[in-house]
Amino acid sequence: MAATYSALTHLECSRCPATCDAGQLQGICTCGAPLLARYDLAVTAALCSPGRIAGRRPDLWRYHELLPVGSAETAVRLGEGMTPLLAIARLGSELGVPGLLMKDEGLLPTGTFKARGAAVGVSRAAELGAAGVAMPTNGNAGAAWAAYCARAGLPCLVVMPAGAPEIARSECTAAGAETYLVDGLIGDAARLLADAPARPGYQDVSTLKEPYRLEGKKTIGLEIAEQLGWRVPDVIVCPVGGGVALIGIVKALSELRELGWIGPELPRLVAVQAAGCAPVVRAFQQRAAEIEPWPDARTVAFGLTVPAPLGGFLVLQALAATGGTAVSVTDAELLASQRQAARAEGCWVCPEGAACFAAIGRLRAEGWLAGTDEVVTVNTGTGLKYPQTLPASPALIPAGGRLPAP
Ligand SMILES: *Cc1c(COP(=O)(O)O)cnc(C)c1O
Ligand SMILES: [Zn+2]
Repeated sequence: MAATYSALTHLECSRCPATCDAGQLQGICTCGAPLLARYDLAVTAALCSPGRIAGRRPDLWRYHELLPVGSAETAVRLGEGMTPLLAIARLGSELGVPGLLMKDEGLLPTGTFKARGAAVGVSRAAELGAAGVAMPTNGNAGAAWAAYCARAGLPCLVVMPAGAPEIARSECTAAGAETYLVDGLIGDAARLLADAPARPGYQDVSTLKEPYRLEGKKTIGLEIAEQLGWRVPDVIVCPVGGGVALIGIVKALSELRELGWIGPELPRLVAVQAAGCAPVVRAFQQRAAEIEPWPDARTVAFGLTVPAPLGGFLVLQALAATGGTAVSVTDAELLASQRQAARAEGCWVCPEGAACFAAIGRLRAEGWLAGTDEVVTVNTGTGLKYPQTLPASPALIPAGGRLPAP
């Protein structure tokens, strides 16, 4: 008998009692809600343990029993996972939380944590026989899926807002993806794709419209627990666009708790959005169970420009389940935090990641965070993808000139 690589058993609806077959390509539930992958945790516990995982390669496939991909051979790899969990006590002290740690996802292939979802999502789509994948994107997801599709030899169709960071266009086209811009936001990109002439066998891999991107992003949570020695911090702070990272972290920690690899207590989760597009924060503050679309969404943190996230209700459930909260910060605040992080720690984080630092300062000032809390913040990408956010104009010295005295 072949060794079991994945303990995946079936898919379960996140809203209604429906279940479905994980052995073929699936989209959303007939009720319209995202499907969640479920695993046989008894099999997982029999096959692996924290000790065994420690001996495996330092990438996200070290958790393969808790991932949907069926074999090591079908995993599409570009060196993803096991990003640093950096202690950033100097910046933490400036924010009033010296026990601050940053999970730095900027080191992943294509420079953002979208690589995790793409690695697992593309592997699984190819394994299940998709002829190609199609997605609307704010840029970084398209770039990551285009790269992993090129690696897998799978066609990729991408539509992104014309306002998305320009580097993403180049990344998609360089990787050979069929790429289009739309004069609008991500919802307009989605509508173009919904009305597109059929491309037979293509899978819609929009955020949470297939079950496996979430499984890839879940590995952030698995890594945080492992890197802390199989325990959790007091608080995890995460930017929220579509909400996949935050939902994935809570799903991961819930699975680890059920396995008994971490204790019963989950960290309090904090969802961070930009003031120019904060549908989840507004719903949280109004104690609503569902998200209302945000009009006129606009922020420099482009990855957060998701006015109507399909999984918003799951983010709200995760915040409620962990005693968490939701915070929005202005573009001016997040850009100031981005500069502060680069100065204090040498970390040029993306605007989405910087928003979390601004939120941490606010939550500490309000007393929601204690000075003794151990806080992990997720920097979702490298600032190098957003060169215009920290413009510089050093003095120009003529050749043959002299530098000024210090
Ligand atoms: C996509 C993206 C986000 C938002 O992530 P979700 O999982 O959709 O909530 C945050 N930061 C960056 C850099 C992104 O690309
Ligand atoms: Zn359902």
